[in-house]
Amino acid sequence: MNLQRTNPYLKLLEIPVGYLNIMGYVDKSEVNGPGSRAVIWVQGCLRECPSCFNPESWPFEINQLIKVDTLVQKILSNPHNTGVTFSGGEPFWQAPALANLARQVKAAGLNVMSFTGFSLEQLRSDQAPAGVGDLLDQLDILIDGAYVQSLAIHSPDSLVASRNQRVHLIKNLAASGRGMKQPLLGFFRRPKGRGIYP
Ligand code: SF4
Repeated sequence: MNLQRTNPYLKLLEIPVGYLNIMGYVDKSEVNGPGSRAVIWVQGCLRECPSCFNPESWPFEINQLIKVDTLVQKILSNPHNTGVTFSGGEPFWQAPALANLARQVKAAGLNVMSFTGFSLEQLRSDQAPAGVGDLLDQLDILIDGAYVQSLAIHSPDSLVASRNQRVHLIKNLAASGRGMKQPLLGFFRRPKGRGIYP
């Protein structure tokens, strides 16, 4: 699959305003961040990392369109969800819709975490996808950097899947949120790879 010449913006234009194009969704996952979490795997990634756990997430073609408000209701209707994780695919290509979703679930007391193949520096640069600043403003945790097979960490206790990735604690999780009163690391189990289904 060669996606390098794909212009993601042309495909992203096919997503109606207020919707997300996702690969999958689960409730109450305990292997994709601290606590019990709703996980959203977005559709579309340009990187083609060797040994990516979700190559089916690479195409930007429409896979599953879901209204942001519908997804918010679904997340909040499950009392076991104490947070939400964005994985993929590349979440930051759909930053405006995810920022909208994050704003709503945070207002209800959930915390929000995202994986990204970009570095935080790239996300803060002029070359970043549209709407990145709004999404960064909503995040409690960001794990940045693409998965690099040669730097893989094969330990269930590691917070990241490869040594180049970094964990950024953007907000104080203990200060707010359903079920997040205990120390972060006590909750944190490394996801099985980058964004694999639980
Ligand atoms: S590992 Fe992540 S960044 Fe790399 S191709 Fe897969 S989804 Fe994209």
